Amino acid sequence: MKDISCKLLVIGAGPGGYVCAIRAGQLGIDTVIVDAGKPGGTCLNVGCIPSKALIHAAEEYDRIVHLSNGRNSLGIRATKPELDLAQTIAWKDGIVGRLNSGVSGLLKKAKVKIVQGHARFRDGKTIEVETETGRQIVRAETVVIATGSAPVALPNLPFGGAVISSTEALALTSVPERLVVVGGGYIGLELGTAFAKMGAKVTVVEAQGRILPQYDAELTRPVSKRLQALGIDVMTGAKAKGLAKAGSTLLVEAEDGSETSLTADRVLVTVGRRPVTQGWGLDELVLDMDGPFIRIDERCRTSMRGIYAIGDVTGEPMLAHRAMGQGEMVAEIIAGHKRVWDKRSIPAVCFTDPEIVTVGLSPEDARRTGIEITIGQFPFSANGRAMTKMGEDGFVRVVARLDNHLVLGIQAVGHGVSELAAAFGLAVEMGARLEDIAGTIHAHPTQGEAFQEAALKALGQELHI
Ligand code: FAD
Repeated sequence: MKDISCKLLVIGAGPGGYVCAIRAGQLGIDTVIVDAGKPGGTCLNVGCIPSKALIHAAEEYDRIVHLSNGRNSLGIRATKPELDLAQTIAWKDGIVGRLNSGVSGLLKKAKVKIVQGHARFRDGKTIEVETETGRQIVRAETVVIATGSAPVALPNLPFGGAVISSTEALALTSVPERLVVVGGGYIGLELGTAFAKMGAKVTVVEAQGRILPQYDAELTRPVSKRLQALGIDVMTGAKAKGLAKAGSTLLVEAEDGSETSLTADRVLVTVGRRPVTQGWGLDELVLDMDGPFIRIDERCRTSMRGIYAIGDVTGEPMLAHRAMGQGEMVAEIIAGHKRVWDKRSIPAVCFTDPEIVTVGLSPEDARRTGIEITIGQFPFSANGRAMTKMGEDGFVRVVARLDNHLVLGIQAVGHGVSELAAAFGLAVEMGARLEDIAGTIHAHPTQGEAFQEAALKALGQELHI
């Protein structure tokens, strides 16, 4: 197989890598992208898109179950629905397949050469790829590492048999009767909630004192309430010790040191994700690291000249849109543009029920910086649109500087608030003041009005509360 030489080599075609390659191609850079799997990486194949498809299907099913139980006040009577999870998974796979083709098409349109296979560094500028037809050598002037992350396994609960990661959970073709989720972070709760809505008896085992510990308790309260309403048991301060010999009994050490046995058809382990930095020659390059992650500067440069790293492999926040933002920026830097990374306005969305959105600083973060702040919070129980959607739990909160009203952060929890993430991000990115949000006429009736009302409240000018 003839060696390939190129200006830019991108290793990994997840959201970070493929966006970087597309932009580089558009900018006229001779680019090669290598991936061992299908284009789109974790996000498209076993992450963001499949999980949101499953969540949507579970919500639809749960809604009809609710309407069929005769106790709803909407005046709609439905008959009990049936769920064919194998069909749901086939539908999800169809969406993933369409998007895989879409990403490949975009790469080709940008004249990026795609090499499929597992890459291994020979030296900092040369890799060899195990392709289906043989070994391919690729040499490049510049390399972008975008190899992403993989699920973390617990030593006492290795993956296999009944013990699954999010990847296998997103391919199950029947709903487990009893599902134990180990890890109460966003992936575990999103999937645990979906399976509970589809009829599984779900227990969440979380080692820390509460679920979603990265958010303040006020933001997670509506989520905890909903988990309870769905019949999901949440054990906090509890540690999964391993499977009992029988195979389907999970031993759990409770907060008080006592041991409990949970019967489980499946144990879904979602205790975090580790960067893919081992086993492909990267460790031999001796790049500077930040713990397990590749250390980068504000231009995503590693400690080795001509080698950049982007996305999950570089640490938190491990989010697809952050990887994409870095990918686009790095391509432009390689093309000679002046860009630096500004992480102030990266939104984070947790697709639980209800959803959580955060952008910028929380009240606690802001206080820690010593800045005097003003906070405005508006509940969805006072928002007409939320009432008509039967989604009154939750609120929008705006955090701003007291002196000049610069918006520092925005948080929301509520039904469908993920769609407000764009407005929140824009406000923080553009350096909005409370007056900008308060003075923007928001369409009525929408949940976005709660954003305007929260800003009005922070100014002491609230109208609807
Ligand atoms: P990845 O998407 O992990 O892609 C890395 C690619 O590199 C892979 O395709 C892999 O095959 C390839 N690769 C690795 N090593 C090699 C090698 N040696 N040779 C060749 N190829 C290699 N994020 C969000 O923003 N929103 C969400 O709603 C969301 N939901 C999620 C749900 C789940 C269940 C999971 C698991 C993750 C979710 N994420 C979500 C996180 C998101 O998927 C990641 O942040 C994102 O995919 C990171 O992108 P990346 O480009 O850094 O790497």
